[in-house]
Amino acid sequence: MKRLYIDFDGVVMDSIPPLYDALEKSGANVNKEEEIREFFSNYDYNNVINDKLLLNDSIECINKLIESKKFEISFLTHVNSLAEGVVKVNYLRGHFKEITIIMVPKEISKTKVVHSEGAILVDDYSGNLKEWEENGGIAIRFSKDLESAGYRVINRLDQLIDMFDEDGNETC
Ligand SMILES: [Mg+2]
Repeated sequence: MKRLYIDFDGVVMDSIPPLYDALEKSGANVNKEEEIREFFSNYDYNNVINDKLLLNDSIECINKLIESKKFEISFLTHVNSLAEGVVKVNYLRGHFKEITIIMVPKEISKTKVVHSEGAILVDDYSGNLKEWEENGGIAIRFSKDLESAGYRVINRLDQLIDMFDEDGNETC
């Protein structure tokens, strides 16, 4: 089985557009790093983490990934606050009893928290994918509009099943 790390925001959940809408409406000065950080630290993430904002059948797709038995799956997600982490863990545990959930403080690279070598990361943010590849990992971009940004790209998580064979080798 191949180790597979799945990002949350922009992959499982379409949480980014409503989050940035809320930032704009909050009156925070978006040119000031500190005001943005404060907004993200204090935001109630229940507003953007719920079944209504699921991205391209992500829950069903992850269940298919589990059934394929090709992957050892973990969620690997950046968090702005412990409160955000609590909302994410509670949400994901409601759907998946057995998948490991790893929270990474926003300021730290995902590659510092898990061993990336030989493992797959599915992420919508190119910055994370770049670091992942530089540390020996296999980077796959998730994009609703299939914008590759130089990476192999998917817009449904179950597309991974055909990209890897039973031994975790890439089929194309
Ligand atoms: Mg993301």
